[in-house]
Amino acid sequence: MGGQHAAGRTELEHPETGVGRLILTSWRIASEHGGARWWWVRVHDSPENLRESAYRRSQEDREFWKDAVLGCCQPVRPWTDGGELLIWPPNGLAGVIRLSAENLFTEVIYHELVHAACAVYRMNFARSVDLGTGLEDMAPEEDLAYIYGQLAADMDTELKAWWTRLRGAVEGA
Ligand SMILES: [Zn+2]
Repeated sequence: MGGQHAAGRTELEHPETGVGRLILTSWRIASEHGGARWWWVRVHDSPENLRESAYRRSQEDREFWKDAVLGCCQPVRPWTDGGELLIWPPNGLAGVIRLSAENLFTEVIYHELVHAACAVYRMNFARSVDLGTGLEDMAPEEDLAYIYGQLAADMDTELKAWWTRLRGAVEGA
C-alpha cells in the first residue's frame, strides 16, 4: 500500500509485518442478549485489501479468503486447552466484520450480520447452532445468511421507498 491517501483515511500497520491495511473507517457494534459481545466493523478501501487483511488474520483454511469475498465475519478464537473451551475474551470482543467501500450493499451487510449473530449464539448459548460450525460445513449457515441478507435488503428498499412516499405526501399536503 502506498503512502498517498485521501484525507480521512487511516493507514493501520500490522504490528508484526508492517504491511499497511487501508481502512476508511471503523466502528463498534454490540449486542447484550445472553452476554455482552461487540464487533469491530472495518470498512476497507477495496475488496482486495479486505481479502488480504482477512487472509492475514485467518488461522485456518487461509486460501478461502482469497476468493471473491465481498464482506466477511471473523470471530475471535476462544482460549482453549487441548481443544477444551476455557473462556471467550473477557472484554467481550467477538471479532471483526470486514466490508469494502465499493460493496457497501445492504445485502452484504446483513449477510455478515447473520454470521455475527450465529457466532455470538455459539459464544453465549451453545457451541453449535446446528448449522455447522467449521468452514467446511458452513454451507447451511451460508445459505441462511444469503436468504436473510436478501430479505433484509428488500425490506430496506421498501422501507426507504415508503418513507420517501410518506415524506412526499406530508410535504405536498
Ligand atoms: Zn457468508
